[in-house]
Amino acid sequence: MKHFARVTTLAAALLSASLITGTAHAQLAPAAQSAAAPATAQAEARKANIVIIGTGGTIAGAGASVTNTAAYQSAVVPVDKIIASVPEISKVANVKGEQIFQIGSESFNNERLLKLAKRVSELLKQPDVDGIVITHGTDTIEETAYFLNLTLKSDKPVVVVGSMRPGTALGADGALNLYDAVLVASNPASKGKGTLAVLNDEIHTGRDVTKSNTFKTETFRSPFGPLGYVVEGRTLFYRLPARPHTLQTQWDIDKIDKLPEVAVLYAYGNANPAAVDAAVKSGAKAIIYAATGNGSVGDYMVESLKAARAKGVQIVRASRTGSGVVVRNAEQPDDKYDWIVTDDQLPQKARILMALALTQTNDAKALQQVFWKY
Ligand code: ASP
Repeated sequence: MKHFARVTTLAAALLSASLITGTAHAQLAPAAQSAAAPATAQAEARKANIVIIGTGGTIAGAGASVTNTAAYQSAVVPVDKIIASVPEISKVANVKGEQIFQIGSESFNNERLLKLAKRVSELLKQPDVDGIVITHGTDTIEETAYFLNLTLKSDKPVVVVGSMRPGTALGADGALNLYDAVLVASNPASKGKGTLAVLNDEIHTGRDVTKSNTFKTETFRSPFGPLGYVVEGRTLFYRLPARPHTLQTQWDIDKIDKLPEVAVLYAYGNANPAAVDAAVKSGAKAIIYAATGNGSVGDYMVESLKAARAKGVQIVRASRTGSGVVVRNAEQPDDKYDWIVTDDQLPQKARILMALALTQTNDAKALQQVFWKY
């Protein structure tokens, strides 16, 4: 904790001395140029009100030494202390911290996801809230981002942010990531683009973003590239999400109180069909099969997946390759088996979409349409 304060204070001092001034945000530029009113007054008037919800993760982590970049304790620094360690934030937005959890994101479950999403929804309805930033562990940030992207009924910016190194580490990335996230959340250009993930100078759509490396700061990627960048306090968008999100979707977080159980099973040579039976026995309403290649399923697994489908469990073919489209009726006769393919959704994203879809229908054909739509 001592190190956290020392390193972040140093970082803050360096930043405020040389890099970032009150004109950092593109939004503030006209105010700075106006002769009609003092620049600071106009900048104040234009400041967005952002709530920063803390959930834990490495961005709230602390290590024993500054060289602990990958071995440290996550989820220990309170969100208010994280905000205070980046004083530049207060120059671009009025921020308020709110601690909802203090956990590693690997400990997110359906209950916590629903609790977070409902709180975000509540805050977005307040006229005095312009946007939300959620500090989150990076391990499952992509699942939370996708869930919010599909269920929030607001066009106000919602940005998830995390870090790969704790604030105590040399080269800590959390302070700049948080600063950038607040910039993005307070920029009107971010409205109507769905839930965004801001890390490592990039802005990603919650639909596509995924963690691709265990320790590097350059770990988040989207298969079709990020939507934009944040550079020197400027929010720059270059593309838009093509698939429906937030206001355009069929789900409203205020009307969802429980999510059905959806299991993800991973394919490998000599995979054990007993895993399918175990998922069914434990109450899974759907199985996302992270199959090999283009969703191919070993002959010894096909029968147990067919048996699960016969018991009413939905079977979704996904791919463990990490990208690409799983083609219907190609590697397996999906029409014949009444199975579903994920389109391009990664298994963990498909789990989120399937859980939501099952709150409205259990018809495999309708569920397939959901995968092709979102
Ligand atoms: N295990 C941590 C988490 O997801 C890792 C991180 O935040 O980077 O909470």
